[in-house]
Amino acid sequence: MTLLRHTPKDITERSALTINPAKTCQPIGAMYAALGVRGCLPHSHGSQGCCAYHRSTLTRHYKDPISAGTSSFTEGASVFGGQANLLQAIQNIFTIYEPDVIAVHTTCLSETIGDDLNQIADKAQQEGKVPEGKYVIHASTPSYVGSHVTGFSNMCTGIAKGFGRKDTPKTGKINILPGWVEPSDMEEIKRLTSMMDLKYILFPDTSGVVNAPLLGEYHMFPDAGAKIEDLKEIGGSKGTVALGETASGPTARYMDTEFKVPCTVLPLPIGLRATDRFIDTLRKVGGRNVPAVIDNERGLVVDFMSDMHQYFHGKKVALWGDPDQLVSLVEFLRDLDMLPVHIVTGTPGKTFEKRIAAIMEETKMPVPYKLKVGGDMFLMHQWIKNEPVDLLIGNTYGKYIARDENIPFVRHGFPILDRQGHQYFPTVGYKGALRLMEMILNVFLDKADRESPEAKLELVY
Ligand code: SF4
Repeated sequence: MTLLRHTPKDITERSALTINPAKTCQPIGAMYAALGVRGCLPHSHGSQGCCAYHRSTLTRHYKDPISAGTSSFTEGASVFGGQANLLQAIQNIFTIYEPDVIAVHTTCLSETIGDDLNQIADKAQQEGKVPEGKYVIHASTPSYVGSHVTGFSNMCTGIAKGFGRKDTPKTGKINILPGWVEPSDMEEIKRLTSMMDLKYILFPDTSGVVNAPLLGEYHMFPDAGAKIEDLKEIGGSKGTVALGETASGPTARYMDTEFKVPCTVLPLPIGLRATDRFIDTLRKVGGRNVPAVIDNERGLVVDFMSDMHQYFHGKKVALWGDPDQLVSLVEFLRDLDMLPVHIVTGTPGKTFEKRIAAIMEETKMPVPYKLKVGGDMFLMHQWIKNEPVDLLIGNTYGKYIARDENIPFVRHGFPILDRQGHQYFPTVGYKGALRLMEMILNVFLDKADRESPEAKLELVY
């Protein structure tokens, strides 16, 4: 904390130095996506250190054990390539741990060497190292490009490539790509889709895997996640609804091109209007009416918004994180008449700036805002020092700024290392919108209760 007090207010142009990045590395996303396939063990093709870091980051976020294999590169593999290590690993893992699927992702090291996962996976198959009815899928995830979101997206495409087929008979189901959201969010997306009376295949699906209930018995592969028999049918679905342009867009377009399953790519259903879009798309793609119970859930959000509008109106917000979350959060904040004035994502990408600009224009943002793609937390802190805000929204790394500047802080995004709740309670859908508003309102009112003079302490807000 003390260190951050030395963050200077004067901003110097930096082009080759990142300080406190607002992203992490690709394989973490690939590992998280792979955990959303039932019976799947993620496998890190690189050194043990990478795998330990990725597993521990996921474990710290979910407070659940995260299993993954590693090719355990040493000097030899680093010079001559990791093919022998991976072939041995595939054989050992299927023999000892008996997963149904091994999902291999690369690391900086194996990418730099140039290991060809297609070729190694084929060789494993030819040499009989993949037992009958078992699968090896893979994704290339070099961490010196993109971010954890890119890695998630690449593994989603790896899942589609690994299981989808062109000539699948039509099933009438809908593919749903949830994007990088919490397991609680995936559960909520499934609940809403079921309420629309639709048959769907949601993948990846980490609900019940990384937030498994404690029932007294450990299962390395919980009875949860997208089923292989369903994944084999994705090519026969009548449409794909992809949530989040960055995390889900590429996979949806791959399935559109390869399997001729038409796709609709939407922002993550965070907030009122984004959830409306999701429900409306399900209605159109699935050919169903929206049931009254969903209308009622929506009505509660509108009720909350109008009851508490005076506390949201005009408040300045700084937010950072992944592009898909930020796009929907910014729209929701604007719908609450709040002012998202500082926005940073660490994930590179060409469309983010335009998507935010479109929301700001549509909602007639009354004050200027700053936005940085590939930015970092140091810059965010400098912006805040120059233009203070009323609220921070982002991952755990914002707690230093929150403490130093005494700003209310709502944790949202990845990773959240110092609070609980994200695994269990959604922020997507109408229920998620209620929860987000509750979290924002509570940090405002807690600050008011803490700091208001005794004579002005309010009992009723
Ligand atoms: S950045 Fe590269 S070397 Fe570092 S942990 Fe991630 S994959 Fe491994």
